[in-house]
This record gives sequence, structure tokens and C-alpha cells, in this order.
Amino acid sequence: MWINMNGTIVPSEKAMISVFDHGLLYGDGVFEGIRVYSGNVFRLQEHLDRLYYSAKAIMLKITIDKKQMIKEVVETVAKNKITNGYIRLVVTRGVGDLGLDPRKCKESFYFVIAANITLYPDEYYKNGLTITTVAARRNISEALDPKIKSLNYLNNILAKIEASNHGSLEAIMINNAGSVSEATGDNVFITKGKDLITPDLSCGVLDGVTRKVVMEIGAKLKMNIYEKILSRYDLYTADECFLTGTAAEVIPVVKIDAREIGDGKPGKWTKKIITEFHKVVKLDGVKVKY
Ligand code: PMP
Repeated sequence: MWINMNGTIVPSEKAMISVFDHGLLYGDGVFEGIRVYSGNVFRLQEHLDRLYYSAKAIMLKITIDKKQMIKEVVETVAKNKITNGYIRLVVTRGVGDLGLDPRKCKESFYFVIAANITLYPDEYYKNGLTITTVAARRNISEALDPKIKSLNYLNNILAKIEASNHGSLEAIMINNAGSVSEATGDNVFITKGKDLITPDLSCGVLDGVTRKVVMEIGAKLKMNIYEKILSRYDLYTADECFLTGTAAEVIPVVKIDAREIGDGKPGKWTKKIITEFHKVVKLDGVKVKY
């Protein structure tokens, strides 16, 4: 496997990062997870827009512009001959000292991994996930805005641990106001009749690329799309529920907090959206020249 380390592609054994990098010492950095489908990097521009906004929000200067970053990502994918896979693009604050002052870090550092990912076994895409809401609240926007895709995922990891401790594969996080925000690495959707509903961005969620794709698909299917404040009541009484994310794609949820959602099987809208999703991802993206 070949890794792009700040513009130089090296074998993975040689891909090293300093123990003084603040990405490691403090989780000071930002990242993206991006998919490659049929030799196209899916919605790369949108991922880079979000990456550069996340960086701006934490006053982290990325050393190359988006045009150059597209080249770096595509080259890394080509070098690894990945036609269907997953890219992890990480930008750290760079090397500093043991104090947390980011001004001590002279220059940020990026690296790109192009590999594969399987988040959930196939059976869950067919039969749906059983998940649970957790006590760990989603970060409040005033402290660490969930719109920033930062290297600080402890909030999500604590939620994931809590879910695992309850025998669940995934958690739904509730925000400080008591409404639904998102899963630990995915956005949440429900359907009711022809309504396709997802928590509003103000509820403490990442503005998911897959979330947007699914809203576009819903519109194409003539569903009514809503971004709303959702409560646990709305989850429990939904016809259908599913999660969306680059790594997870679209995955049905059939049980939340030991309650069946709808009839306890992946619903008809969810199935339609999954079918459409797999068509859409093949038509869109930045072409890789291998
Ligand atoms: N929420 C969180 C917390 C995430 O980390 C992610 C990405 N893994 C998502 C939602 C989904 O975003 P996207 O569809 O852009 O991958």
C-alpha cells in the first residue's frame, strides 16, 4: 500500500508521523472519508469544500489549494490501483512542542490513504441494524461544533462504547436540548408516509455528503423532504429509519432501543433509496487515470 505523505507517495511502512504532531497530541486537525466507485472519486469537490471549511473554522491553514489536493488524492488512488474503495484524507496541525498552542506548529501536514473499508457485514444491509440512543450527549455547537469534521472524535467514540456495552452496533446521539442529532459516524433519516425527514443541521450534526445525496434521491422519488427537530418519539413512531455516511453508505435501521421501527424490516422507501444510491454513485465523480 502507498501513502501520500504531504505530497510524497511512500510505501506504508515508511509512512510515519512525528510524536510531536498536534494531530496526535491534541486531536488538532481535520479529515475526510471519501469513496471511490468504478474509478471515480465520488463528490470529491464537496468533500474538499467541507475539509477546507473545517480547517478554516479551527484556523488551520492547509498548505496546498483545492486544485492541487484533487491531484494528490487522485494520484494516491491511482498508485494503489483502487477502483472501488475508501480514501482517508487527514490534515494535522503539524509538528509543535508539548504545549497546545497551535502557533508553535509552523506548518500543517496532510496525508492520504487509499484503501478499502467494510463498515458493517452484508447481512445488516439486507436485514437492518439494531441500534440504541445513548446517554452521552452530542457536543454542543458552542463548545465544539459538530459541523467541524475534526480529529477529535472522543464524543462519538464514547457514544459508540456505550452502544457496544448495550450490545448495539451503533448509537444515536441526542443533543443537549433533547433532540436527535446523528449516529457516531452517520446521519439519521426517518420516513413517515411520503415524508423523508432528517435532523436539521442546527441540531448538532455533520453536513453529510451522503445526507445531501439521499435528499436529492428522495426529491427524485417525489418524496417530501424535511430537515426538522426530531425527538425520540419521532424515531419510535417512524415508518422507516436508516443511516447515511460515506463509509456506511445507506443502511436500514429496524430496531431502536429494543423497539421495532415500522414492521421491524427494512422499509420500501429505504430499499428504493439504496437501489438509487448505488446507481447515482457510479455516475458522479472525478475520474481517476490509472
Ligand atoms: N456524521 C458524522 C459524525 C460523521 O463522522 C460522518 C462521516 N463519517 C457523517 C455524519 C456522514 O457524513 P458523510 O455522508 O459526508 O460521510
